[in-house]
Amino acid sequence: MTLDAAALHADAIVIDAHSDVFADVANRRAQGKTAWLSERHIPDWRAGGVNAVVTTLYTEPTFKPDRAARRAMEQLGAALNDIDETPDAFLCQTRAEVESIVADGSIAFILAMEGAEPIQDEIGSLRVFYELGLRILGLTWNQRNMLAEGVGEDRAGGGITERGRAYIAECNWPGILLDVSHLTVKSFWDLMDANDGPVIASHSNATALCSHKRNLDDDQLKALAGSGGFIGINGVAAFINDDPGKADLAGMLDHLDHVVSVVGAEHVGLGPDFVDYMRDDPASFASATGIDYPAGFETIRTMPNVTTGLVERGYSEDAIRGILGLNFLRVFKDVCG
Ligand SMILES: [Zn+2]
Repeated sequence: MTLDAAALHADAIVIDAHSDVFADVANRRAQGKTAWLSERHIPDWRAGGVNAVVTTLYTEPTFKPDRAARRAMEQLGAALNDIDETPDAFLCQTRAEVESIVADGSIAFILAMEGAEPIQDEIGSLRVFYELGLRILGLTWNQRNMLAEGVGEDRAGGGITERGRAYIAECNWPGILLDVSHLTVKSFWDLMDANDGPVIASHSNATALCSHKRNLDDDQLKALAGSGGFIGINGVAAFINDDPGKADLAGMLDHLDHVVSVVGAEHVGLGPDFVDYMRDDPASFASATGIDYPAGFETIRTMPNVTTGLVERGYSEDAIRGILGLNFLRVFKDVCG
């Protein structure tokens, strides 16, 4: 019997493992716009059947490094205020909380940080961010910082610094999940060497199908799976096809198929990385104009197309439920509780 993709998508827990939407919320709030989360974004996630979203504190390069902590606080404060103004959205810190919120029909947020510039060398403030809800940390974004080298600096040949290694140890207690998307190959292996426990790549694809340096080769995929971790497939066209103009939903699902063939379906999920909403306000987000998404997967509203594609490709119901959300929740629980 063929699975009913629409019914399965509606019933499954669907998780977006990477979104920068809190930056948008902060910018709108700075313009005096309240409840932007519920007005602009919640309807998109509802239309896409998304139940939980990993939302990052992403400090834009213009704020680095000196104003990064203030920018992170601005984003988090704006997000918390907007969440308060949204009756059906809550920030969650454990798997049980996510499942409870989703069971109530609300949207669950999980707080991440993409680039540790807001913390810099104040390792003690990692604990402060943990108390504020931080559960996932990428040591750096594309640039080099005090902890690690990002893919934008890959020609420099650097990896994880000694301070970065100290951060990794600090994250292992009290339970912050490390995210290697954006790390150079050397930083990746340094982190895997230093860390004990599951590691995720929340929004990266397979080098075997697209050579972009944000993607992961098969040995990296195996190392993540071997750690008990997770790979979230990314929807950005440039990470799907070396000719981004040729990227389509089938090409994105080819990446998912490849990762599944290398590590098994239980280590794969979805980190679509949508910033399509930035085009709402081009003056504020001119830097985003180069980002595009494939035909058939243009916004988070098209998330059900992924489930349809997985059904068409013969994935089992259990595998699809895992890919849509349960695989992420397993890893999240293993590290964060
Ligand atoms: Zn990213």
